[in-house]
Amino acid sequence: MTSPDTDYSYAVELARQLIRCPSVTPAEGGALDLLERELTKMGFACTRLVFGEGEAAIDNLFARLGTATPHIAFAGHTDVVPAGDLDAWQFDPFGGDIEDGRLYGRGAADMKGGIAAFFGALKAFLADNTPTGSISLIITGDEEADAINGTVKMVDWMKANGHQPDFCIVGEPTNPSALGDMIKHGRRGSLTGRLSVTGSQGHVAYPHLAKSPVPALFEMLAMVNATELDDGTEEFVPSTAQIVDLVIENPASNVIPEQATGQFNIRFNTIHSVDSLKTMLTAHFDQIAARQDVRYDISFASNASPFVTPSGALTKMMAEVIRTHTGRTPDLSTTGGTSDARFICQLCDVAEFGLVGKTMHKIDEHVEIDDIDRLAAIYCDMLVAARV
Ligand SMILES: [Zn+2]
Repeated sequence: MTSPDTDYSYAVELARQLIRCPSVTPAEGGALDLLERELTKMGFACTRLVFGEGEAAIDNLFARLGTATPHIAFAGHTDVVPAGDLDAWQFDPFGGDIEDGRLYGRGAADMKGGIAAFFGALKAFLADNTPTGSISLIITGDEEADAINGTVKMVDWMKANGHQPDFCIVGEPTNPSALGDMIKHGRRGSLTGRLSVTGSQGHVAYPHLAKSPVPALFEMLAMVNATELDDGTEEFVPSTAQIVDLVIENPASNVIPEQATGQFNIRFNTIHSVDSLKTMLTAHFDQIAARQDVRYDISFASNASPFVTPSGALTKMMAEVIRTHTGRTPDLSTTGGTSDARFICQLCDVAEFGLVGKTMHKIDEHVEIDDIDRLAAIYCDMLVAARV
């Protein structure tokens, strides 16, 4: 067990305290209160931004030190996914235990450890420097769930209130296996489609008197069944489509069903847009529906468009600092799921670099405590390099 005598750094202690705040999305859990107290001590002007009504209301925190340029922002989230099976955990997911140099708990990697590293960086930077520019923190409580009352609304609020950063670093756990592996400088978009095909019901022994919707549905879905929609770009892997659900509610083995439904999700790069994909898919479905003499309904939902911050001053500066501290040259990548960077890109250039993500969302989520301190030193040097 943890020795009570051990002295940990400010950043590691803050990460432990954050893990002890049960901020399972969308609960605030005391995490933003804790950060606001720390930021106030460091001289930041803090604004709590509550978006949404009643049950859906989400607490967020914006803080800024100074008003001048350059204006550098750090962004992250304090909400965490649920712990899952508590009996399967070796440690209390909300205990902040440290053993063998590892900090355990829900959010250790995604991303309370990263936020604690922001704070470690601020402490170190402000101890040695008097900023001539300004530093902002964009901390949301709504990243892991719907992400509708968090960063997306904070970005609108920042635009309306004259908080325009020059660039923003998001502290998501971007490294697959070791600190220094990977910077994410873009993300793919996501489009979900729900396709229902309607024929006419009948006896399987008399198929000429019925019209099965199933062959048409299968033909329509072939285009999105584990297919690559393009060859990728310099910055992105090929767009891919996956069928995620199929429903034909028909318990009788002698009945041709009336309706069949399939759901698919496409992760797409900048070759496509939500609109271009909808147009392409609808043309494909129309043609099959006409030939197979069935009707269909399609509903689309998208919560992310693709974006990329081109390799340039920001990514070069980040890579240089990361290389100095870790000896690794980070890959520039646009892989993985969506992140709040998709909203921040509307405000300024944005890139993501954080802890090692191997255990995020898993049982016994953990990070190396040395990595928290090294990440804090990296963020601190990024502030120095940005001449903030
Ligand atoms: Zn995250």
